[in-house]
Amino acid sequence: MLTVNAYAALSATEPLAPTTIERRDVGPKDVLIEIRYAGVCHSDIHAVRGEWGQLTYPQVVGHEIAGIVAEVGSEVTRYAVGDRVGVGCMVNSCRKCENCLAGLENYCLAGFTATYTGLDRDGTITQGGYSTHVVVVEDFVLRIPDAISLEKAAPLLCAGITTYSPLAHWNAGPGKKVAVVGLGGLGHLAVKVAHAMGAEVTVLSRTLAKQDDGLAFGAADYRATADPDTFTELANTFDLIINTVSANIDVDAYLSLLRLDGTLVSVGAAPEPLPVSVVSLVGNRRSFTGSTIGSISETQEMLDFCAEHSIVPETELIAAKEINEAFDRVLSSDVRYRFVIDIATLA
Ligand code: NAP
Ligand code: ZN
Ligand code: ZN
Repeated sequence: MLTVNAYAALSATEPLAPTTIERRDVGPKDVLIEIRYAGVCHSDIHAVRGEWGQLTYPQVVGHEIAGIVAEVGSEVTRYAVGDRVGVGCMVNSCRKCENCLAGLENYCLAGFTATYTGLDRDGTITQGGYSTHVVVVEDFVLRIPDAISLEKAAPLLCAGITTYSPLAHWNAGPGKKVAVVGLGGLGHLAVKVAHAMGAEVTVLSRTLAKQDDGLAFGAADYRATADPDTFTELANTFDLIINTVSANIDVDAYLSLLRLDGTLVSVGAAPEPLPVSVVSLVGNRRSFTGSTIGSISETQEMLDFCAEHSIVPETELIAAKEINEAFDRVLSSDVRYRFVIDIATLA
């Protein structure tokens, strides 16, 4: 066992606080990673506040992990000490269901083992990346391309893959009109990736406050959803809409923006149910669907795509002790566009 420094939630309502946690001994197929950076995802906040279900506390969150391999198990073949690596939202899966066998561990029928709040194979609850080290089986470790710094790589491990996967699956590319709803951590990467794929991108944000940024990230158009004219002017326009909003949206209003056979994909995961009218779907044969992160192979593909297209997130580096303030700023959408914890401040 390795005792390591971490920042943990002690309950759903208290601020995160410094603590120590235990990491398992490095098994034959495991990699010990010295974490250098951890991104702050809105999911970390939903989770620690118990919005997606009751947790066992203390709980360390963080599933945008970038670092250096510090030790490898005797049967590890793909990584060596000193390699630059990342870990996203999953640290294992059943490996035998039809989705795992198809290489889609993110849709494991037994439920993938989440990087935090997951039930690990030894019966313990997994603890995430707001910590100095993590032990992960090599199959769930990603290689970070040389062109991407570890700080910039961290947010790609969740925000990057969660937006890349639906954009790739629903064929964002030349000739396609894609809208991104919400310009936060996920949204700003969705704009960059969709633009790099060749799609014509529109940002749908509540106000025009971040318009200059959105256009600089590659959007061709930027509209305020607080302005009702947006919904009349853009009716029947988009092939694909990626919703990244962390709260419920008016689904029918966004469906009305889809052209024939268009698709509204929600990656934003607000905890409350939301209403949708079948009338919005039958007109223009529209689809309303969702998407969960991406598989391990697709995550590697995304990292390589970002390296090739010089795509990196906009980040604000914080010390570990600033995490509670960062949570508050994410909740008030005062983030440009992803907080990343400098894990050296935890050592
Ligand atoms: P974020 O940085 O907070 O961005 C969310 C954006 O949503 C904000 O920037 C804001 O955009 C908009 N927004 C926030 N509150 C709103 C409200 N009340 N009404 C309308 N718009 C609002 O969060 P994130 O880290 O990108 O995560 C976004 C969501 O995706 C979260 O729910 C997270 O849990 C979920 N998620 C899902 C997956 C998956 O696999 N499906 C993976 C990662 C994250 P504007 O200011 O531009 O309006
Ligand atoms: Zn996340
Ligand atoms: Zn499975």
